[in-house]
Amino acid sequence: MKALKDQEYDAIVVGTGPGGATVAKELAQKKRSVLMLEWGNNEPINGTKAQTIRNLGTPGKSALFTNEMLTMVRGITTGGSSVYYYGTAFYPPVEMLKKYNIRIEDEIEEVKTELPVAPLPDELMGPMAKRIMNSALELGYDWRKMPKFIDPDKCRPECGKCGYGCPHGAKWTARHFVEQARKKGATLINGAKVTTVLTENGKAQGVVFRHRQSSHRAFAKQVILAAGGIGSPVILRALGYPGAGLDFFYDPLIAVMGTVSDVKGGKEIPMAAGIHMESEGYVMTDMTLPSTLYGLLSAQVGRINQLLNHPKSLTIMIKAKDSLGGHLSDSGGVRKRLSGSDKQKLSRGYERAKQILRNAGAKTVYKSNFLAAHPGGTVKINDLVNSNLETDIKNLFVCDCSVIPEAWGLPPTFTLLCLGKRLAKHLVNPS
Ligand SMILES: Cc1cc2nc3c(=O)[nH]c(=O)nc-3n(C[C@H](O)[C@H](O)[C@H](O)COP(=O)(O)OP(=O)(O)OC[C@H]3O[C@@H](n4cnc5c(N)ncnc54)[C@H](O)[C@@H]3O)c2cc1C
Repeated sequence: MKALKDQEYDAIVVGTGPGGATVAKELAQKKRSVLMLEWGNNEPINGTKAQTIRNLGTPGKSALFTNEMLTMVRGITTGGSSVYYYGTAFYPPVEMLKKYNIRIEDEIEEVKTELPVAPLPDELMGPMAKRIMNSALELGYDWRKMPKFIDPDKCRPECGKCGYGCPHGAKWTARHFVEQARKKGATLINGAKVTTVLTENGKAQGVVFRHRQSSHRAFAKQVILAAGGIGSPVILRALGYPGAGLDFFYDPLIAVMGTVSDVKGGKEIPMAAGIHMESEGYVMTDMTLPSTLYGLLSAQVGRINQLLNHPKSLTIMIKAKDSLGGHLSDSGGVRKRLSGSDKQKLSRGYERAKQILRNAGAKTVYKSNFLAAHPGGTVKINDLVNSNLETDIKNLFVCDCSVIPEAWGLPPTFTLLCLGKRLAKHLVNPS
């Protein structure tokens, strides 16, 4: 096994999604030496279907299938899933986190000054999202525009590439923070898959990773696992934490599609507006899908006659807060079944979405199979990490969707940015 030079870093950050990239950037700005190890590639994002399939749709790597064939996707590339996310900046659950001794009010303000966090101006909201919103408002829903991490000045709304990675740099992704970290001297190694953490006398010393078919070691004073809701628990399992990856959420969702004859679109920013049906346990939003995904989801449910209707299809997403449950295999296989109550939430949302789409003039309405894109709660706060996100191995921290302590059901990125900033402050000035 090769050691990475003789250098010891201040911090090694494993994974460069919103959690990891934020910690890395903040530490590099405070003049800490940082090594970022990222399993995926760092190809410039070109917004093509082929690249999206490589980074988000490779079976067994970025596309995982549960034991009941629910498809779960995650981005394996610099920036993680944020490269392909829809840029929705859902306000963090401040009160819930307070119960765990975590205050992030300051960090929320910092994120708001650093990133564009605002609803889309009317001219960037597509015709399909507007049509759905008007219909929902007519029916009495408090359907509102959602804040987005999108810079309106850079956005070209009809490019339709949000879901393929934004090639114009308008949608904030964790790649922006990775680049800022590198400008401040941090090192990024791509194609580096971390397999375990090196420890001595109960303290983290570094990590072992695979790179170009051989094993390497790298050393640091602090190690931050940010390999995502599936990646981080797998590393902890290898380290002897059998409880990692138990009782988690994945925020199951369905897409409800309805065809109208008088709108021609299909290329607009998804999740422009929606409603959080908190008491019923789900979120509903417009979600104009990339054409490939629309075709795939329609074909999966036998709607071959709809394949050419992408430009005329209004789509509403229902995303539920699923009950905690299931387990991950040692290699990250996802074993979890939807409970009766999870399915009930999604079908209640389906009934409401059908009504909204029919009121908007849709004739044929149908729903996709179950999907998921937010695995988390696999290394929960108060269970495997404390409120400083530290494990019981000293200097070993976790900062990604894994640490969320309760069932979730919301877009998590804004919360992860705040947790990343808060952790970086603690690493620089331990309390
Ligand atoms: C299609 C889609 C749309 C979404 N839309 C929204 C939205 O609008 N708003 C929102 O807030 N959220 C959205 N999300 C969810 C959001 O993108 C994720 O919740 C968020 O990216 C999770 O961040 P993370 O830091 O936990 O990990 P991730 O983003 O999963 O990043 C983990 C990183 O670790 C790397 N990695 C994994 N294992 C290893 C290893 N062993 N060694 C080294 N590196 C490793 C991965 O390659 C990846 O880069 C969406 C997700 C998808 C897929």
